[in-house]
Amino acid sequence: MADGSRGELVRQIQDALEAQGVMLETEVWRGLEVYERRLVERNREVNLTAVTDAEGVYWKHFYDSLVVLGLPEVPQAGFLVDVGSGAGFPGLVLAVARPGFSVSLLDALRKRVWFLEEVRGELGLTRVRVVHGRAEEYGRRPGWRESFDMATARAVAQMSVLAELLLPFVRVGGMAMAWKGPDVEEELEGARGAIRRLGGEVEAVHRYELPYGMGGRSVVIVRKISATPTEYPRRPGVPEKRPLT
Ligand code: SAM
Repeated sequence: MADGSRGELVRQIQDALEAQGVMLETEVWRGLEVYERRLVERNREVNLTAVTDAEGVYWKHFYDSLVVLGLPEVPQAGFLVDVGSGAGFPGLVLAVARPGFSVSLLDALRKRVWFLEEVRGELGLTRVRVVHGRAEEYGRRPGWRESFDMATARAVAQMSVLAELLLPFVRVGGMAMAWKGPDVEEELEGARGAIRRLGGEVEAVHRYELPYGMGGRSVVIVRKISATPTEYPRRPGVPEKRPLT
């Protein structure tokens, strides 16, 4: 992509984010450009994302990750774990944008973890750690369990499974955030029992639109109101095979 059209694209995204109350420093946009170029380059060798054009990367990955920074529930600083981070969405993008966030990126796929390490090193993000592993295991570890202000996930699992993967990481008073498509009601209804059992309560569902017909999205905010019972999360694979009801 020519530098001029990338500049125009960045301006559009800046305007859209400002309309949501999100302002980012020039330094952040420089970091995101490095990230985008590396993603497109490495994606030719390993499967990191189906989105390969700069416009798609900026809107569907960067904007989609950043838009939550304008939400009233989201603090300026804190400890965040991104479960199933993949190529870094939303966790790595949020780490680039918010120097106050200390971010743990967790993914079960080694080749994606290598990519995350590469971008972390290139951008000098000392507040980011990248870990290869499964949420079902890390959610039981001391130093991880009930140790985060925020746990995030996009495109990892349905809501009741996500509740079991995310809520064990969250301290009481903190929150889990799940990125979802536009029609999340039915999925959420089916997950209410699981969320309650794991110590959570749905606090808000925020909706927004991506431009150019790229579609609607929702972010579900689940507040942790009591400790997660020690039997959760269950063994790797079990939450998905036998979702809580
Ligand atoms: N969040 C990224 C995004 O929105 O582009 C990646 C989504 S990708 C479809 C799902 C990722 O979740 C994969 O990289 C997979 O390895 C990871 N994943 C799925 N279940 C997991 C688990 N239980 N623990 C850790 N990672 C998991």
